[in-house]
Amino acid sequence: MTTLGLLSALATRGIDVLADLRAALPEKSTGHRELAASIGFDPFRLKRLLRCAERLFGTVEGDVDVESRDKAVAIARELKLSLDTVMQIDKRSGQLNNVEIREYYRLDFTRAAAAYDFEGLDTYMRTKVKELNRTDEPPQHLRAHVSRNPDIRGMKHLQVTGPANMIDDLVAPLTVRAAEIAKAHEDYTRDRCVGQALAERLAHGAEGPLDDVDKLRYQPALIVTAQDIVEYSPRFAATSNGSVLTPGQFVEALLADTGWVLVYDEHNTPTDLLPIHNPRLATEEQRIAMILDNPICAWPGCPRPAHAGQAHHLVARKNGGATTMENMVMTCKEHNAANDDDRQGLNGHLERDDGSGAVYRHPPSPHAPPEFNLAFPTALAGRAYSGYRQRE
Ligand SMILES: [Zn+2]
Repeated sequence: MTTLGLLSALATRGIDVLADLRAALPEKSTGHRELAASIGFDPFRLKRLLRCAERLFGTVEGDVDVESRDKAVAIARELKLSLDTVMQIDKRSGQLNNVEIREYYRLDFTRAAAAYDFEGLDTYMRTKVKELNRTDEPPQHLRAHVSRNPDIRGMKHLQVTGPANMIDDLVAPLTVRAAEIAKAHEDYTRDRCVGQALAERLAHGAEGPLDDVDKLRYQPALIVTAQDIVEYSPRFAATSNGSVLTPGQFVEALLADTGWVLVYDEHNTPTDLLPIHNPRLATEEQRIAMILDNPICAWPGCPRPAHAGQAHHLVARKNGGATTMENMVMTCKEHNAANDDDRQGLNGHLERDDGSGAVYRHPPSPHAPPEFNLAFPTALAGRAYSGYRQRE
């Protein structure tokens, strides 16, 4: 193909180019580097193209709106949309928080491409995405993205995004510490000071500038979505008891106890991540499931991390309580002991809300309202439990 021929293909046959690329690669995720080398493509760009092709032509699972998707492909072919336009439509529709409407808007954007040039279309799409994401419930969790490949300076990037209040909670103490560092090192840039403050938090050793409570509060600071690691191999890890873990579960099992990383796949219910009601579960797996569900002690106001705590029986074993996920929650040692197991009107006791699955403290007075631990790591608390209830 001549250069002009290739350019004109890219400019008018975006859909065909993607289909051809996909066909040229028999096994997905193998050989894309070789293909990239043979056609002189940047392998990362090729990977992006192939991912887009997969979304356009691949078989789909779940409730994906295939009808809209296929219509969008047909219209894009008819309109002879360029590769860049098709890719940009893919990018913008993928930015919609509500996954269920993504294919519908792929179709909408593709139709709109008939009326706009590239920039006009992009403005239209950006406006639409912004509008739709605003009416959507904003995601209530933090996301962390770690770049897999170093940049040209050999630096890897950690990007944390999340609701403004969560980020503020995370950054406010860093700013204070960064100011201290800046005072001690006049030659440091502001970014470097904030970076060092963050590094201290992530790598806090036995001694350090942080007081205990502060250290503990930020233990589960990063949430890595399962999507971020899903492409790593091995795709599955076998365990000694014969069960098989997905990469998400595997990383969780490795890292949950450090309190640094909590893997949570927003598209799966937590019960898909961990088979919580499986009677063959080992105690360690139950413990990890509980830590995932309640990363810090369930007692209101307590900042101690669950991984350093104990499995607390909501109905005490001596009173017939079972060692099941339903009847257990992680608490620190102190609050496990403080809990009023026999309901004698002493310190109050922990109970599970039947509907949400969240655990709260029932105060000693029967008329006082329930008290929840409102610290941000508990925002997901109870989901594993409620997911398991819905399934039954
Ligand atoms: Zn506690």
